[in-house]
Amino acid sequence: MITAYIGLGSNLDHPAEQVLRALDELDCIPESWLGRHSSLYASPPMGPPDQPDYVNAVAELHTALPALALLDALQSIENAHHRVRNERWGPRTLDLDLLLYGQEVIDLERLKVPHPGIARRPFVLQPLAEIDRDLQVPGMGRAQDLLNACEEQAARRM
Ligand code: ATP
Ligand code: MG
Ligand code: MG
Repeated sequence: MITAYIGLGSNLDHPAEQVLRALDELDCIPESWLGRHSSLYASPPMGPPDQPDYVNAVAELHTALPALALLDALQSIENAHHRVRNERWGPRTLDLDLLLYGQEVIDLERLKVPHPGIARRPFVLQPLAEIDRDLQVPGMGRAQDLLNACEEQAARRM
């Protein structure tokens, strides 16, 4: 089994409900079960500013799926939430990013792990450090240290 960490985000169509429903759906992914998850956080949008604030969370998923199969499963949950891909970082009903897959480093076109944005995003680091402040991000260091060094605007625990 591998312990993966999933970043959840939504800013459309009842974001908190989208995120809470997605947590249940993560628990239904084959060969996987949900571990701990963070509180919900409210955060200002990254990218185009003319969009609603986000609700974010992070969840731990224990899984026997290979990383790409897990990404497929995450994308089918996004699609089931009617995720539409328009402009980059535009508003969305649900974003599920694979933040960490054990301590593996993956550099494929479709999948980069650790997630490339992880170290500069408080809306990822705050919920991640809430679950495990000592979690090691491969090649980057400890979750709480990355959060302390992060200069972007903080997320707010809901
Ligand atoms: P960001 O990845 O910067 O948070 P985003 O989540 O809005 O932006 P998406 O539109 O959800 O980006 O995904 C774009 C592509 O990123 C996907 O098609 C997917 O193949 C690729 N991708 C690469 N690495 C990852 C990862 N670790 N988790 C999720 N998707 C990834
Ligand atoms: Mg994302
Ligand atoms: Mg994404």
